[in-house]
Amino acid sequence: MSDVFADLVGQDDAVDTLRRAAASAAAVLHAAHLPPPSVVPAVADDGEYDDLDALADMVDAADGVGATADADDAAINGVGATPGAVGAAPGIGATVVDPAAGMTHAWIFTGPPGSGRSVAARAFAAALQCVHGTGCGVCPGCHTTLTGTHADVRLVAPEGLSIGVGEMRALVLRAASTPSGGRWQVVIIEDADRLTEAAGNALLKAVEEPPPRTVFLLCAPSTHPEDVSVTIRSRCRVVPLRQPSAVAVAEVLVRRDGIAPDVAQWAAAAAQGHVGRARRLARDPEARQRRDAVLAVPRRLTGVGAALDAASALIEAAEAEAAASVAESDAAERAALQTALGAGGTGRGAAGATRGSAGQLKDLEKRQKSRATRAQRDALDRALVDLAGFYRDALASAWRAPVAPVHTDTAPLAEAGGQKWAPEGALRRLEAVLECRAAIEANVKPRIAVEAMMLSLWRG
Ligand SMILES: [Zn+2]
Repeated sequence: MSDVFADLVGQDDAVDTLRRAAASAAAVLHAAHLPPPSVVPAVADDGEYDDLDALADMVDAADGVGATADADDAAINGVGATPGAVGAAPGIGATVVDPAAGMTHAWIFTGPPGSGRSVAARAFAAALQCVHGTGCGVCPGCHTTLTGTHADVRLVAPEGLSIGVGEMRALVLRAASTPSGGRWQVVIIEDADRLTEAAGNALLKAVEEPPPRTVFLLCAPSTHPEDVSVTIRSRCRVVPLRQPSAVAVAEVLVRRDGIAPDVAQWAAAAAQGHVGRARRLARDPEARQRRDAVLAVPRRLTGVGAALDAASALIEAAEAEAAASVAESDAAERAALQTALGAGGTGRGAAGATRGSAGQLKDLEKRQKSRATRAQRDALDRALVDLAGFYRDALASAWRAPVAPVHTDTAPLAEAGGQKWAPEGALRRLEAVLECRAAIEANVKPRIAVEAMMLSLWRG
C-alpha cells in the first residue's frame, strides 16, 4: 500500500503508532462536528472516561484553564499528560475509534541521522491533513502537505547552526490561528536540538498551552537534555525511530527510485542506514567520487607529511562540497533582497532605502555564513562516518566477526588492515575517527581535530 508512510523505511512500530494517532485525530475532528453528548458514550464505553476526565481536570487546573474548555481540547490534553498511553490505548477498534486514544498536541521524533525523522514528521502531518483521515497519499490534503504547499503546515529547518527566538516567536504566533483547512495547524521543527535557549522557551510556552487545533512535531537526534530540554520533552510524546537495516533501505531504493538491485544493495550498506545518503550514493557520481577519495585515505598514510596532506585534502574537499551546495541559494537570496530593497533605484526614497538596506544585507551575510559553516561540518562529518566504517570493517575482520562489511568495495583492504593491526590497532584507529567527530562537535577547529586524527591513524 503506497500511502504517506510508504517512505518511512524499516519503522513498523512508529508507523503503527502514527496511523493510530491519525485515526484518533480524524475522530476528534469528526466528534467536534457532532452534538457534544455523542463524544461521551464513545469514551465512557471502554471504562476510561473517569481517568481521562480526571486527567483533563488536572491539566485544566495546572494550566489555569476554565472547566469550560473545548471538549476535544481537554480530551487531547488529558492524554497528552500521560506519555506512553499510545500502546495502552484501545486504539482502532472494529467499530469505534476513541477520539482521545492516540492523539496529542506535541510529538518528538528521535533517531539516528538518516533514519527518517523529518520524513516521519511530514508523513504524520500529511495524515493529519488527509481529507480521509488516513494519510491516503493522493487527496489534496496529503498531496499539498507532502509537496510543502499546505496552508496549515509550517516547516522550520535551521539553515545555520541554530534556530533563533525571532523565528520561533513568529511561528508560534501563526500556529495559534484557526486552521484554514478546518483540520489542524501543524508546525514541524526539524533539528529541534538546534533551538537557542530563548527559542526553546518561546516554543515551550506554546507547547504548554497549545491552541486546540495546533500540533507541534519536533525532530531531534534523541531526548537527551542536550538535544531537547527536559521541560519540552515532558510535554511531548516520543516516537523513536531506529536505524533501518541495509535490506530495508535497498528495498526502498529499488521500489521507489528505480535503482538497480545490486547498486541499491551496495549503496544501502555503504550509507550505514542513512536513507538519503544511500540514494545520493546510488545516483550521484560526484558523491561516489568523494567517498572514494575518503576511503583512499588509509592507504595514503605513509608518514607525517602524508598524514598532514591527507588532513588538508579532507578539509578542503568538505569546504568545496559545502561551497557548491550553498552557492546557488546564496546568490539567489542576495539578488532577491537587493530587488526587494530597490537597489539601483533612482527615484525619490531610493537613497533612504539604501541607508536601511546595509543592515539587512549584513544580516543576510551573517545567516549565509552560518549556513556555510553548517554545510562544511555536515560534509566533513559524512566523510568521517565513511572513514569510521572502514576501520569498523577492519576491526570486524580482525575479530573474524560474522558481520557484513559496511564498504563492500574496500573490504579486501580493510581485511588486510585488520590482519596487520590486530583487533587492538584497528580499534585504536576507529576510536581516533570517533574522537575527531566528537571534538568537532565540541567546537574544536576542524583542521586541528582532523590533523590529530590523521596522525593517530598513521601511528596506529
Ligand atoms: Zn489523503
